[in-house]
Amino acid sequence: MLVAVVGMDTSLRTALGDKTARPLARQLELETVGDLLRHYPRKYIEHATVTHTSEREDQRFRPGEHVTLLGTVEKVAGRRMRHRKGHIVEATVSVGAQRFTCTFFNQPYRERDLAPGTRALFSGDLSRYRGGWQLAAPEFIVLNAGAEAQLPGLIPIYPATRKLRSWVVMLAVRQVLDLLDEPEDPLPDTLRATHGLASLGDALRRVHLPDTREEEREARRRLVWDEAFGLQLAMAGRRASATTRPAPACPRRDDGLAAAFDARLPFALTGAQRSVGESLSEALAGEEPLNRLLQGDVGSGKTVVALRAMLQVVDAGRQAVLLAPTEVLAAQHARSLQAMLGPLGRAGELSDDPAADPEHATRVTLLTGSLGAKARRQALLDAQSGAAGIVVGTHAVIQQGVGFADLGLVVVDEQHRFGVHQRDELRSRSGPTTPHVLVMTATPIPRTVALTLYGDLDISVLDELPTGRKPIATTAVPAGVKPRWLERAWERVREEVAAGHQAYVVCPRIGDEGGEPGEQWPEPPAGDLLDPEAPGPDEFEEALRKLRPPDEEEQEEAARPPLAVTDVGPMLAEGPLAGLRLEILHGRMPTDEKDAVMRAFSEGRVDVLVATTVIEVGVDVPNATMMIIMDADRFGVSQLHQLRGRVGRGAAASSCLLVTEAAEGSPALQRLERLAATPDGFEVSRIDLEVRDEGDVLGAQQSGRRSGLHMLSVLKHGDLVAEAREEARAVMADDPLLARHPGLAGLVRSVVGEAEAAFLDRL
Ligand code: ADP
Ligand code: MG
Repeated sequence: MLVAVVGMDTSLRTALGDKTARPLARQLELETVGDLLRHYPRKYIEHATVTHTSEREDQRFRPGEHVTLLGTVEKVAGRRMRHRKGHIVEATVSVGAQRFTCTFFNQPYRERDLAPGTRALFSGDLSRYRGGWQLAAPEFIVLNAGAEAQLPGLIPIYPATRKLRSWVVMLAVRQVLDLLDEPEDPLPDTLRATHGLASLGDALRRVHLPDTREEEREARRRLVWDEAFGLQLAMAGRRASATTRPAPACPRRDDGLAAAFDARLPFALTGAQRSVGESLSEALAGEEPLNRLLQGDVGSGKTVVALRAMLQVVDAGRQAVLLAPTEVLAAQHARSLQAMLGPLGRAGELSDDPAADPEHATRVTLLTGSLGAKARRQALLDAQSGAAGIVVGTHAVIQQGVGFADLGLVVVDEQHRFGVHQRDELRSRSGPTTPHVLVMTATPIPRTVALTLYGDLDISVLDELPTGRKPIATTAVPAGVKPRWLERAWERVREEVAAGHQAYVVCPRIGDEGGEPGEQWPEPPAGDLLDPEAPGPDEFEEALRKLRPPDEEEQEEAARPPLAVTDVGPMLAEGPLAGLRLEILHGRMPTDEKDAVMRAFSEGRVDVLVATTVIEVGVDVPNATMMIIMDADRFGVSQLHQLRGRVGRGAAASSCLLVTEAAEGSPALQRLERLAATPDGFEVSRIDLEVRDEGDVLGAQQSGRRSGLHMLSVLKHGDLVAEAREEARAVMADDPLLARHPGLAGLVRSVVGEAEAAFLDRL
């Protein structure tokens, strides 16, 4: 069948016919011409110059890997097999300096097909054979002189499967490109001119069939722009839709709680805390909703900044809510807010403290799933009546239908997860106004990464630690090689305790029922106030998640189960730490028990706390000066950085030991050593992303998930993302529904998916 005109939306069945289209759909989920053309080559073989690259290539080969190689047959021989019945043909194929043996069983005619000097593309699975590489029964196509001349200067190699060879994809792409009508370019001409971007048609042709590396680079730059721009338009749109309704204005008062709080602060704010505070204060005073990401390294004092913002809101007669990812953290936040506020946070309670001025006091109410029925009723009442100026709770609970008298500010302690939907959900519930939103991230991420992931938020950074902070002396302890170091570590714990200090021992696993990871974020609640029709966690978030540093669930399974709190605790109590007051803490303990342990530790009644990552964020016990992290290689480096931030919070010097059985010189140990060498959270997240970033280009595709993010890399494309963000904001300011930019609306849909693009109809 001949098709006159093929567009990006044309189905591959129409364009190529059933026979060719079926495997593309089955194997790679490619349904339309656009899908196929956005299935970019993984790499290219420079068939003129393979000699130079092949040696290096070899080091990257792995047994079992599926490869496509362009090579020349050097010699070929067929023979009967000696120990088995049957015939075998062995061809030695050279790819530059590298040789491969291709073997064929009971196909004697292969000897004729592959006469010495034949050039062919081979595709098959690698295995080791007599110290070299073998392709057993590979598929191949012989390139006669004519065919090879027809090959582009760079031969594209596609993500392919055993059942669908790279060249089949290549041939399909060529066919489609021959038929393709010049696609309409979603990017406005002016934008393309400003940034020197190729047209969509040219970029697609050149990414698939480039003649030179330069052409390929230019094509990719244009196509990455599409992704970055689509993403940033979605972010800008989200931002616009979050600001359509006014926020409750919360002007600053000089004679209120905030001022009273500042007056009794036991320390001077850092310059960064003061300037970020100032800008938050200004924004809260206005009716344009604040949408701010507050970044800062562990210990930079984010909580104080957030609390001062909350107090301004309370001063304006409204309420603030602080959302934490886990119950333990919510309880800990509530406790530390109460401690910081002192009498200012005990409104309505009997107090003989003369400093307590009833005019300037509020109440901090904790609301978690495990409150008893009575306490819960009271907490809900306090939130509803407005008696609680500050409500602290878990995402899960707060989302399940808490009414507020007058919600002015939502503070989200975001930890690792991307909480776009949670934020939207709370926003959508607050009637004619939309509350201000302040997101605190515990993991500092480079600005360019933040722009990619949080493009809808403005960013404030606390780039200064309070004075007098002692650096945390971090050491990697390879316990496998140096068992004596570990013994010494326990001695040091005893020394710290003897000096009146406390210590944490962190393990990756709880134990008992086995296998379960430590603390988890609650699943988003399915029912209640959530609109059943609302999109669930979708492809877009999935894709974004892949751009983020790994969290604990995603870390690789290792051979031995990770050490567990319930094993290590008793082991230490009976062994090296006998006689010390030791308690364990993990997320499966009943809440009141967890609470009691945490309180006892805070008050210095426990010397050593053996815990999961439940203590990762927010836990604030300045007297704790030592942390030992067991199986440290099982955690991501950003997470380790958060964990060690639990010590070094007081005046005394602190230390953190990263215990691992990873072998000397192994990447795992090197990672820990790099972490030990730097105190800087931004540097840490860079290390994390580097580890992560390999192969991110096709990550979404390989997992079988379809998303519009194929090429965008948070590390590589930072500058480009920043430019795309500027352009996106300019476009959205002018045309928030993209009514005059139908091409861009289509781009947003293709990059972030229908669900995320819903803002286009929502305004
Ligand atoms: P983060 O949440 O950014 O890790 P916190 O807000 O928990 O940091 O602050 C860490 C510790 O430092 C807390 O004990 C807090 O009271 C204290 N702190 C905050 N700001 C200052 C400051 N400007 N000077 C001295 N100590 C401070
Ligand atoms: Mg904190």
